[in-house]
Amino acid sequence: MPQIAMVIDLNKCIGCQSCTVACKSLWTDEAGQEQMFWNNVETRPGQGYPRDWEHSGGGWAGGQGGGKLKPGVIPPQAAYGFDGEPNHDEAWSGRADRLRVYEKQPEWGVNWDEDSSSGTYPNNFHFYLPRLCNHCTHPACMHACPVGAIYKREEDGIVLIDQDKCQGKRECVKACPYKKIYFNATAGRSQKCIFCFPRVESGVPPACARQCPGRLRFVGMLDDSAGPIHRLVNDYKVALPLHPEYGTGPNVYYVPPVLPPGFGPDGRVIDDPRIPTAYLRSLFGPGVDAALATIRAEMERRQRGEPSELMDLLVARDWKTLFNIPEPRHG
Ligand code: SF4
Ligand code: SF4
Repeated sequence: MPQIAMVIDLNKCIGCQSCTVACKSLWTDEAGQEQMFWNNVETRPGQGYPRDWEHSGGGWAGGQGGGKLKPGVIPPQAAYGFDGEPNHDEAWSGRADRLRVYEKQPEWGVNWDEDSSSGTYPNNFHFYLPRLCNHCTHPACMHACPVGAIYKREEDGIVLIDQDKCQGKRECVKACPYKKIYFNATAGRSQKCIFCFPRVESGVPPACARQCPGRLRFVGMLDDSAGPIHRLVNDYKVALPLHPEYGTGPNVYYVPPVLPPGFGPDGRVIDDPRIPTAYLRSLFGPGVDAALATIRAEMERRQRGEPSELMDLLVARDWKTLFNIPEPRHG
């Protein structure tokens, strides 16, 4: 099956949330979608959005889509954040800070733990992790839906929820291990990222990718051997799925972050990486060691003044090199 995919280079993400805003203003600004962030950018290490989603179950037991669905839970409302109406007058007047515009103090929300570092100064660290539906090869959400409302398009592998068929049973919310399906209580239906399919059908990249000032989201067909996605995922193997052990075969891939090395007690630079590799392994699987080694080797080549196709690809001086979306469909 042809599969559209995205590669996100975490070394270039500045956590600006332009992608989040682009998505929210395009697709989820209606009643019932207040807590819905089809695209979110979370600070790592952190609890993410919805809070603690990595411990909410779902996905497949027994390997890539081949076994049984694992039980999952619907995150409580508190994991998405406070759903009260803010006092806009107070907020605009400047009399209240952003938390005091609610009658009840919120205790969680999207991007709540922004820029909260881990570790001890001067070796503390954090990085940003943009997340969206992975348009998985083995979508647990699709298999869990009791009314067959979720389908995967044959032409590009985009996973969609048929809004006319969905009966709001939320089995998909439980089954998605990434918790990237949201329930719209006003509409009574589940909703999620549509990979901007109307844009893709016109040859235009998804809004999150096109609006990203970091030029770090590559979009294209996975099997296009000349395209950047295939080069990064299959040839260089520097782009890895998030939590491959969930077994859904994600089609959003990440270039893992390489931060500067840490400092020893005497203040000198040490060999240990600032981000513990074990932590990156817990996110991106065992392939992360080889991916980091390749990235570091290519960085050093460039520092020696030698050519590096990989670095040129990742730098993306011309934004058009980020995308290799098929020609627009007509008729
Ligand atoms: S990320 Fe979740 S919602 Fe998206 S296709 Fe995979 S299982 Fe379904
Ligand atoms: S727009 Fe780009 S740089 Fe900004 S948060 Fe999103 S992915 Fe990161």
